[in-house]
Amino acid sequence: MEIKVLKNILGANDQIAAKNRELMAKHEVFAVNVMASPGAGKTSVLLQTIRALKGKTRIGVIEGDIASSIDAETVAKEGIPVVQINTGGECHLESFQIQNALNNLPLPDIDLLLIENVGNLVCPAEFSIGEDLKVLIASVPEGDDKPYKYPLMFNTVDAIVLNKIDLLPYVKFNVEGFTKTVKNINPKVELFKVSCTTGEGIQPWAKWLLARMKSK
Ligand code: MG
Ligand code: ZN
Repeated sequence: MEIKVLKNILGANDQIAAKNRELMAKHEVFAVNVMASPGAGKTSVLLQTIRALKGKTRIGVIEGDIASSIDAETVAKEGIPVVQINTGGECHLESFQIQNALNNLPLPDIDLLLIENVGNLVCPAEFSIGEDLKVLIASVPEGDDKPYKYPLMFNTVDAIVLNKIDLLPYVKFNVEGFTKTVKNINPKVELFKVSCTTGEGIQPWAKWLLARMKSK
């Protein structure tokens, strides 16, 4: 019985996700679902990405959080359209919330829509929101064992951005081992190593993202 209920919920989510996809295709919006655990640096990576792509593409942002609009306020200072979704306790974004956000964004003025999901490595991986690309922000202080603990998340994404590499000299993190594990779980995934503090690695990541957007 319980399985049946879950199926129905996912079914409804996928139907609205398809509508989101249709609406964004109509306006030629390329949507990226950005996922991570809390504190991995999603907002910092978004800010660096926005700055790296300034003048190259028109960006919009959806900020998903359980509560508050702190991240949306930070992003809005970059002078781009941003909508905050407060999930009111829910630990992931669903397609109906994105549908609502899309209705509040100037879609004809947006080419690249960055969607910051709620900080969580579990259920965001299970809910399609109509995105073109799924990206995971991992970070050095979280440790190199995360791919073993959250295989679905690591398997479901198109790219992984390993953030805070400036901390590698101070934290026990085996980059080679992490890379091996990630490629075992998800052979096709792209892996980028970045630091939002030093700016290292941001350009290759932003370039790749832009190329993926243009090749759609
Ligand atoms: Mg954030
Ligand atoms: Zn959840």
